[in-house]
Amino acid sequence: MSRFSRARREDAAEASARVEGTGRAATSRVVSARQEEAGDGTALRVDGATVRFGNGRPALDAVDLSVRAHEVVCVLGPSGSGKSTLLRVVAGLQPLDAGSVWLGGEDQRDVPVHRRGVGLMFQDHQLFPQRDVAGNVAFGLRMRRVPADARAARVAELLSLVGLADAAHRGVGSLSGGEQQRVALARALAPRPSLLMLDEPFGQLDRTLRERLVQELRELFTALGTTVLAVTHDQGEAFALADRVVIMRDGAIAQSGAPLEVWRRPADSFVARFLGFSNLVLARVTRGAAETAWGRLPLAEGHAVSPGEHTVLVRPAGVRLVGESGGLTCEVVARTFHGTHVSLRLRPRDAPEVEATCALHEAPERGDRVGVVFDAQDVVVLD
Ligand code: ADP
Repeated sequence: MSRFSRARREDAAEASARVEGTGRAATSRVVSARQEEAGDGTALRVDGATVRFGNGRPALDAVDLSVRAHEVVCVLGPSGSGKSTLLRVVAGLQPLDAGSVWLGGEDQRDVPVHRRGVGLMFQDHQLFPQRDVAGNVAFGLRMRRVPADARAARVAELLSLVGLADAAHRGVGSLSGGEQQRVALARALAPRPSLLMLDEPFGQLDRTLRERLVQELRELFTALGTTVLAVTHDQGEAFALADRVVIMRDGAIAQSGAPLEVWRRPADSFVARFLGFSNLVLARVTRGAAETAWGRLPLAEGHAVSPGEHTVLVRPAGVRLVGESGGLTCEVVARTFHGTHVSLRLRPRDAPEVEATCALHEAPERGDRVGVVFDAQDVVVLD
């Protein structure tokens, strides 16, 4: 069991009791009780949020977004697509030019940052270097004038939750990057925010540590029932952490859905490319097949599409190598080893390149000629 998930049963129990409204009295000793969700179970609602910096395209362009209580939503998108601006708007750090933000069913129009009941955790942690670990975690509680004994109890509880029970009196400068990240998380969670917001929370950590922390965070959020709005540019991270991913492009939402749903059926070629798919080709779609520069691609039964011009995506797993004489003839122009599989770049004579994956022992050499056929279940017609 991981450190996070050793997560104190009482905390989880209290979190759920609070949600059911039975533990409010106890909670209000620590922080004033706060409405966490609207009557319909919505923790956050953003309506038509618009932000303009100067004359160009809006940084946020009439964005609508709802987050249900206990839902973990990850906002993904390329740099400059408006992710941080969206987070800052919800936190109250960025004024809106139009639209509204609702937390727990209440319009936040005139509510300042410190009264919104949101916890914030940024990429660079922003820990206070002059305070020790406990002092950092206690910060939000001190701001809310929580009495010293209740504060100490909550800090101890949080440090235990994030696996740093023995580090209370260490200086934050002496901690590793991963430990600092845990302190920042404990600090954000200490005042029991109704919404926890994370901005590139693992940005500065190495990949192995990130993968472990993402897993641990997922377990922690599930145990505590935390409502989370996180921003990341790393799709692996978002897909591992989120109940729902929201993909942004140019200040607007390009697609929102469960990770698997988005992975299976990207809304358009922008989302498909952003997810790392490169096998995209124009097609004339008829019933059951798509005519493309790669030939006639089969479509799975029940793949509902309207006939006509579309972009078609073929997932690399659906590109199958057969003998040189079968299917579409291609030359292998690149071969990259990924540990468990090999990815191949294949060049047909008069058509765009195709990406394929195959097992190491089956992989052809660069310069080989192969035949390629396409599996219907990995052919996706985009809108
Ligand atoms: P992301 O978090 O997806 O990288 P941001 O929300 O930071 O995107 O930025 C969205 C757009 O708004 C970008 O074009 C960015 O340059 C612009 N922008 C963000 N903050 C400011 C600011 N304070 N002043 C001017 N332009 C800004």
